[in-house]
Amino acid sequence: MAKIDTLCVHAGYSPKKGEPRQLPIIQSTTFKYETSDQMGRLFDLEETGYFYTRLQNPTVDAVAAQICTLEGGVGAILTSSGQAANLFACLNIAGAGDHIVAANNIYGGTFNLLGVTLAKFGIEVSFIKADAPDSEIQAAIRPNTKLIFGETLSNPGVEVLDIARWAAVAHKNGLPLVIDNTFATPVLCRPFEWGADIVTHSTTKYIDGHGTSVGGAVVDSGNFPWEEYADKFPGLTTPDASYHGLTYTKKFGKAAFITKAVTHLMRDLGSTQSPQNAFYLHLGLQTLHLRMPRHSSSALQVARWLENCPDVAWVHYPGLESDPHHNLAIKYLPNGCSGVLCFGLKGGRAFDNRFLDALKLTTIETHVADCHTCVLHPASHTHRQLSDEQLRAAGIAPDLIRFSVGLEAPEDIIADLEQALKAAKA
Ligand SMILES: *Cc1c(COP(=O)(O)O)cnc(C)c1O
Repeated sequence: MAKIDTLCVHAGYSPKKGEPRQLPIIQSTTFKYETSDQMGRLFDLEETGYFYTRLQNPTVDAVAAQICTLEGGVGAILTSSGQAANLFACLNIAGAGDHIVAANNIYGGTFNLLGVTLAKFGIEVSFIKADAPDSEIQAAIRPNTKLIFGETLSNPGVEVLDIARWAAVAHKNGLPLVIDNTFATPVLCRPFEWGADIVTHSTTKYIDGHGTSVGGAVVDSGNFPWEEYADKFPGLTTPDASYHGLTYTKKFGKAAFITKAVTHLMRDLGSTQSPQNAFYLHLGLQTLHLRMPRHSSSALQVARWLENCPDVAWVHYPGLESDPHHNLAIKYLPNGCSGVLCFGLKGGRAFDNRFLDALKLTTIETHVADCHTCVLHPASHTHRQLSDEQLRAAGIAPDLIRFSVGLEAPEDIIADLEQALKAAKA
């Protein structure tokens, strides 16, 4: 297979003679058929083909196929957001009365999705420390547990998950491991190679990379043996009445999980990505292999500078030798740890805010992981309703500043930090 750099440019779409070189935007909700029978066969899942963009669209599918190839999976779908991707990954196999085990350092939006909204659906979630020993992960698993969930690189703490270790515990219990690979992207880490079964993305971040489009993806490795644990996953292994009694694992084999995500969840919940947004994603993907190493090397340079700066209390970046997750980074992220880092300043909350206000090149925004350097102070912004104790319980230090290193010259990013710290002290 071609190298990842080549796949970023070419996978998913290869035009034939006279066809457009760039991926066309098929801005059509629906598709024409010649006979009633042709259309009928599509609805029986007897034939593949396009009929309605809520389920499938050629532009969206090409980009899904590209992300699938980059991750090394058997099938993928694009969703309207990263939130929808994680929702789909869970609801595809878990329902009322079921249970999920998740790492507690995951993105706040996913933490709420699992802990609050899925609870309302009757799905219980146990959150445990990402660094918890195997025995603790094991102890959290119940007879009704359906999946285990974690992030390659957690947002905002940038902790590296020991994917192979979590996968081993999951598989020992007949459970799939779902990994949100948003910050790493398949350029820096391919979780399937370490035993993950399903990968999700917020493509809003590096895959888009330019802050244009909210989106997500779910990728199926095809490796999980659903039939071996048929009792646990009846939605995949028993006849589906809404498609004339077909059984996903029998009809679609390795692609059972991802096919059901389309024919059930996308059909019923409709969180699809628009062809226009998929086109923007495709543009982003074509330079992902160039951007990720640059984000990573610049972030390491910024992290080293912060580590030596007297105003800085602490820095977390797994690329730093001093970081508690450095050994895991060597294993899982040998080519770089992305552009996201976090740090705390010594001066207190008022000083933090003076520092943020004094930044010039760096913009204050809720976004992260794009070409523009940006910063967020969760305690003052996204999590401002929480007390310091509540912040710590959510795994966020009250002084945590999330810093997303963009594609500007690293010297200019450092100069901006330097002048802002100076201004905050004045
Ligand atoms: C942003 C993010 C999400 C949510 O994605 P949206 O596209 O904003 O819905 C999920 N997981 C991680 C790790 C994220 O950073």
